[in-house]
Amino acid sequence: MLELLKEKVLRAAVKAEESGLCMHRSGNFSMIDRESGLLVISPSGRDRKDLRVADFPVLDLSGKVVEEGIGKPSIEYGLHIKAYETRPEIRSVVHTHSHFASAFAAKGIPIEPVVFEAVFYGVTTALAECFAPGTQELADCVADPLKTSDAVLMRHHGVLCVGDEIDGTLLKAQYVEDVARVYYYALNIPVGEPVRAIPAALLDQET
Ligand SMILES: [Zn+2]
Repeated sequence: MLELLKEKVLRAAVKAEESGLCMHRSGNFSMIDRESGLLVISPSGRDRKDLRVADFPVLDLSGKVVEEGIGKPSIEYGLHIKAYETRPEIRSVVHTHSHFASAFAAKGIPIEPVVFEAVFYGVTTALAECFAPGTQELADCVADPLKTSDAVLMRHHGVLCVGDEIDGTLLKAQYVEDVARVYYYALNIPVGEPVRAIPAALLDQET
């Protein structure tokens, strides 16, 4: 069932691991088939290098497993379902704990668009409050931020990105991390002008 989506999600999960975006089994990935309303999500707590297509469970939008994978589905399945319910046009969700973006999430500071890569995820990041991983409270609190941005920083946790094909959504998560890294370095250079976002007029030209 949904073999093509499973292949795409597996490929994105492995790529995220190889690029250093997700380490030590953290992060999770999914795609939805809008026609059937079923989604493929990464299994919980597995080494991605060992995963096979058949290991990915299929869920419906109530969270019920309609096809078993290996072990349990990611504990963050509620977060993914909330994203699909909030944004009916998206087809993939990528959640990472990438370090620079998570540092800004820990401090509750949105990542300023200091380099043009920010355009790729819609220029700004939105902030979501802190709730324990895997809870309905965490899932519910991303709904409003997702209405304003494709990239949400979840406080004391990590990053949630949404989009169409999962390759593009993963790229958004990679650019969130890249911009966060540059922003961090720029904030820590003691000379020169204060760090500022790219002027809105220039960002408009880019988009
Ligand atoms: Zn997480």
